[in-house]
Amino acid sequence: MPSKTPRISFEYFPPRTAEGKRKLLQETTPALNALDPAFFSVTYGAGGTTRDSTLGVVSAIREDGIDVAPHLSFGGDDGRAIGELVDAYVARGIKRLVALRGDMPSGMGGSSQLVYANELVAFIRERTGDHFEIEVAAYPEIHPEAKSYDSDIRYLKGKLDAGANAAITQYFFNVEAYFYFLDQCAAAGISKPVYAGIMPIINFANLARFSRNCGAEIPRWICQRVEGYGDDQESIRKFGIEVVTQLCQTLLDSGAPGIHFYTMNQVDPTREICRNLGL
Ligand code: FAD
Repeated sequence: MPSKTPRISFEYFPPRTAEGKRKLLQETTPALNALDPAFFSVTYGAGGTTRDSTLGVVSAIREDGIDVAPHLSFGGDDGRAIGELVDAYVARGIKRLVALRGDMPSGMGGSSQLVYANELVAFIRERTGDHFEIEVAAYPEIHPEAKSYDSDIRYLKGKLDAGANAAITQYFFNVEAYFYFLDQCAAAGISKPVYAGIMPIINFANLARFSRNCGAEIPRWICQRVEGYGDDQESIRKFGIEVVTQLCQTLLDSGAPGIHFYTMNQVDPTREICRNLGL
């Protein structure tokens, strides 16, 4: 049954330069906000490496009256530091958070213990009650470190039972993996929405590398097609728009509750895909 008003949201990462931040706030955000998303979200660097820049970008977007959700993980911090950050978001009128375990930054090794997302959700609920809508991460193709398919779903249920309101998936190109995952979630007693995370195809070489690390499969036929285009970036761009539009259309036609776009801080191709979908 197609959803009537699918929820659309847009994800950013905090820019590294002042010019990147200016562009994101003054050009990208107004252009994407014209598509009327439910909210923007801003990632949190592995280990807390973007603590200040995530807070800075989130605060600036919120000052423009736009709903925005910081991503958050304990990273290398203790409860006091994370508690203060959560309080700072409350003070700025932020009403939504994406709560994660996160990863260690590369090169830092695994000496300190990462805090599972269900514990962060419980921490936020204990500190701020019902103030925040909390979203957590879900993995239709299963988290790379998961012991098994079933255990990953059990832990997703644990995060939702700890007080999260909804989940957003890792990006995927296999639509069957998402709908099978939704069925398995329902069978495990999960009734909260699981929004589809979608990655537009922007830089294919980077996407392929990143996908290998995060366990998202790029189907062979997509790789073959892109390879065939060689250096013809315009054909790759057009093909990427076509493939991702079709993926989103299938998701919406088949009842996905909404789509979270990993925009990579770019207006296009996310805007082009949304327009193709009539969103
Ligand atoms: P968890 O849900 O804690 O799960 C981690 C692993 O441990 C899984 O294999 C799970 O099966 C297992 N597990 C879960 N709970 C338990 C438990 N209680 N006991 C034992 N095992 C358990 N990364 C960033 O660094 N910054 C971001 O801003 C960011 N944003 C993201 C947004 C979305 C929508 C998604 C899908 C991912 C994002 N990530 C981000 C990536 C994410 O941090 C990594 O995938 C990370 O490895 C896992 O985080 P998690 O919150 O899913 O972990």
